[in-house]
Amino acid sequence: MENVIIIGTGCAGWTAAIYTARANLEPVVLAGEQIGGQLTTTSEVENYPGFPEGVDGPTLMFSMQQQAERFGARIDYKTVDKVEKGDDGTFVVHCGEDELQARTVIVATGARPRLLGLPNEENGKNGLTTCATCDGAFYRDMPVAVIGGGDSACEEATFLTRFASKVYLVHRRDELRASKIMAERALAHEKIEAVWNTELTAYHPGDDGKMKSVSIRNRESGEEGSLEVKGVFIAIGHVPNSGFLNGLAELDENGYILQVPGKTVTKTPGLYAAGDVADHFYRQAITAAGQGCAAALEAERYLADQED
Ligand code: NAP
Repeated sequence: MENVIIIGTGCAGWTAAIYTARANLEPVVLAGEQIGGQLTTTSEVENYPGFPEGVDGPTLMFSMQQQAERFGARIDYKTVDKVEKGDDGTFVVHCGEDELQARTVIVATGARPRLLGLPNEENGKNGLTTCATCDGAFYRDMPVAVIGGGDSACEEATFLTRFASKVYLVHRRDELRASKIMAERALAHEKIEAVWNTELTAYHPGDDGKMKSVSIRNRESGEEGSLEVKGVFIAIGHVPNSGFLNGLAELDENGYILQVPGKTVTKTPGLYAAGDVADHFYRQAITAAGQGCAAALEAERYLADQED
């Protein structure tokens, strides 16, 4: 019987591991399919505090892992299929044929950005990214495209005007889904050009392997064309990795775990959620790390209360 099982190895998971390990709880961290989480798909992180020169995503994540392991966290390279709670209040975590038992579980499985599903579409590589906050500064004085019509797309497009020479906002319909204020702000900006009723159909790298242009198609007229862009920012939503929870946590309509406001507590005592699997609003490495810390402290107090 483990004290704490942490599911996920992104910023939230490793921070929870550092805190619970330092509290002598000897956490087990289940790695999942993408060890290190979304930051491992980012080349350089310039906004994580403590790194004045920036740090590349995989290095940052490996440093967190080493820090957690130094205090006794154990990593297990398993992917969770299902979590159940027994009558005695403890959890059973199913990973294929294996079953692990724990008094508390911290879910830090993150969310994956939705992609378009086109050939040679690789997040974080060759001019394709899903995070303007992370990568926008690399596109100074270059034309870029943002795909999507929601708040994220409008926010990313507006943010990118600080760097890019031009921002095409490519949306599949002729009306934005975004809130009025964000839509108006984006559409009013002189650097942003909306490309309506349009879908992206192919990415074209240049000889250097970097993005050179994209093919587009008007969904109404069928007309095909292209945009000369150096970067494509996909902002068509995220898919939280919460499907294995088996009803132990309440989810919102998009699958994000609902936490008690201001905490990482879920509806099930002893089950905590931290980072992008619960937070669709901030979605930053540092906010996920903060929630990982909070979840660890809450799990620690829960275990202490059980012993009383
Ligand atoms: P979203 O609201 O679900 O919007 C996704 C957009 O992507 C929609 O415009 C959708 O088109 C488009 N889309 C989806 N699948 C597509 C596909 N396969 N091909 C092309 N386009 C596709 O997602 P979001 O913008 O990430 O926002 C998620 C939540 O976070 C929302 O509740 C939002 O309000 C919130 N948020 C808030 C802020 C803020 O307030 N600062 C910032 C960001 C996000 P359709 O419109 O045609 O469906």
